[in-house]
Amino acid sequence: MGKSADSILMPATDITAAASRLCTACGMCCNGVLFHIVRLQAVDSVKRLETLGLKINRKKREPYFNQPCRALNGCTCTIYADRPTRCRLFECQQIQGLTREEVTEAEALDVILQARDLVAAVERLLKERGNDEVSQPLGERYRQVVEESGEDVALLQEQMQALNDLLNRHFRQEPVALTV
Ligand code: SF4
Ligand code: SF4
Repeated sequence: MGKSADSILMPATDITAAASRLCTACGMCCNGVLFHIVRLQAVDSVKRLETLGLKINRKKREPYFNQPCRALNGCTCTIYADRPTRCRLFECQQIQGLTREEVTEAEALDVILQARDLVAAVERLLKERGNDEVSQPLGERYRQVVEESGEDVALLQEQMQALNDLLNRHFRQEPVALTV
């Protein structure tokens, strides 16, 4: 993913617009593919976020909400102006590469579409094995099916491994290992 001629000296506003187009074609940091939960920070107003429709839970008194996020509509955040701190600060490797002009919009979109194809393949295999729980994170659905299904899950494991490798290589800041 080298710097290409058409991305050199791209104005900041163009980069912001390109990032926005990529995120609205992706949504994977909100839809339960990359993360299971989002932890709130001290500056985030629980009351305000609940008013906006998020269901805030607590673990050891620390507030968080589950993904897939209730505020996500397609690939769009419906509470964008009021989104929590972690949502504001998060940038995947694709967006960071775009900002540093190491990745073009077209290259990033290609990676996003590869990831989305793998997500669709995994979802199809989960559905075939009776799991259509779209309100749960993808990794949790996968774990349930592999641990509970008596059927052959080799193809599902292969597709999930390919997805996890792609997410580690091109999206996550810290790699995550598949445990089943
Ligand atoms: S994973 Fe990256 S490209 Fe996708 S929506 Fe999140 S920040 Fe945008
Ligand atoms: S609040 Fe918005 S940015 Fe944050 S996880 Fe939900 S949809 Fe994504």
